[in-house]
Amino acid sequence: MIKETINKLHSELPATVKLVAVSKFHPFESIEEAYSAGQRIFAESRPQELAAKVKTLQVRRDEMGDPDYMSDVEWHFIGHLQTNKLKMVLPYVSLIESVDSMRLLEAINAWGAANNKVSDILLECFISSDDTKQGFSVEEIMGIVTSESKYDNIRIRGVMGMASYTDDEDVVRGDFKKLADVFAQLKEKIGEFPNLDESCTEVSMGMSGDYPIAIEEGSTMVRIGSMIFGERYV
Ligand SMILES: *Cc1c(COP(=O)(O)O)cnc(C)c1O
Repeated sequence: MIKETINKLHSELPATVKLVAVSKFHPFESIEEAYSAGQRIFAESRPQELAAKVKTLQVRRDEMGDPDYMSDVEWHFIGHLQTNKLKMVLPYVSLIESVDSMRLLEAINAWGAANNKVSDILLECFISSDDTKQGFSVEEIMGIVTSESKYDNIRIRGVMGMASYTDDEDVVRGDFKKLADVFAQLKEKIGEFPNLDESCTEVSMGMSGDYPIAIEEGSTMVRIGSMIFGERYV
């Protein structure tokens, strides 16, 4: 089933949309199955789980005597990241999609300065009408990208958001339009501010239940979990 879904998504998604397979709460074997069907980007939402899967991959490589096994796999982080857990995540991921506070942004930048790494990040924008209030407001995002002081160890690659938890398609579409609009505002300012350059190309939106709408509204990256791997019973 995993293989079939990956194949179906790869053939259906527009070439401009990257598929991020959300493997949280699913075993490493499921990741291997998706990988063997051609999937390369996986996302995790908990630091411990990400670290455990990276370790499992290393054990597999050792057992197989093949240091190149799955060497082109990419990990994204999509969950809430506490600043004391950075070292479990930052060395291994190609993108942190869920930067949701100034404190985290500054901690990632400081960690990068100390460890000689530039981290690619997305700014998480609060677009839904749910009361979780996770992420920056549109105003806060504009404040960050138009700041004149450069974050030397961070590259702002775009924005991420989650639509309201509802079956009402109009509400979901309205949320995605908000994020697409924030992204359009960023694009207009490219080159004018030190933290905003041509590498700002991504608007990550759309999950199993709403990704077709997200794509219609301009998503470049969909994060799909349960549709690929099945329901999570945790
Ligand atoms: C779990 C999760 C997803 C995937 O959700 P599904 O509905 O299983 O596709 C996408 N984005 C974030 C931020 C998540 O935490």
